[in-house]
Amino acid sequence: MSDTLFERIINREVPADIVHETDTTIAFRDINPRATTHVLVVPKTRYRNVAELAAADPGLLADVVNTAARVAELEGVADAGYRLTFNTGEDAGQTVFHVHGHLLGGSPLGPEARPPK
Ligand code: 5GP
Repeated sequence: MSDTLFERIINREVPADIVHETDTTIAFRDINPRATTHVLVVPKTRYRNVAELAAADPGLLADVVNTAARVAELEGVADAGYRLTFNTGEDAGQTVFHVHGHLLGGSPLGPEARPPK
């Protein structure tokens, strides 16, 4: 399996604005932010999506969520609220197939998806 962009960021082969790191996770700013705060939270071990991560290593999924909560505190958005989303597959817009949570916040967020009319 070839490296994804996020493995290259984890290995410091591609630069990123890293805001927090633990033994098992890394968090860095999205290069194309879609909210005032937009941080990607990534487990250092690769799974394609959040369902595969949950099935294989639920403790690591908990690490990702706990890292997101810590980043929300560091970014000053924990009290006002934030969104943590995991795009899964092409229809959801997933482009990097190394699971990552999008932590979005810093201003009120509208609904991302609406049911078809
Ligand atoms: P996805 O679309 O897979 O859910 O999310 C991938 C995210 O990675 C996108 O929001 C995109 O803006 C971000 N991204 C793509 N290339 C880079 C990069 O080189 N550096 C950083 N920090 N983010 C990137």
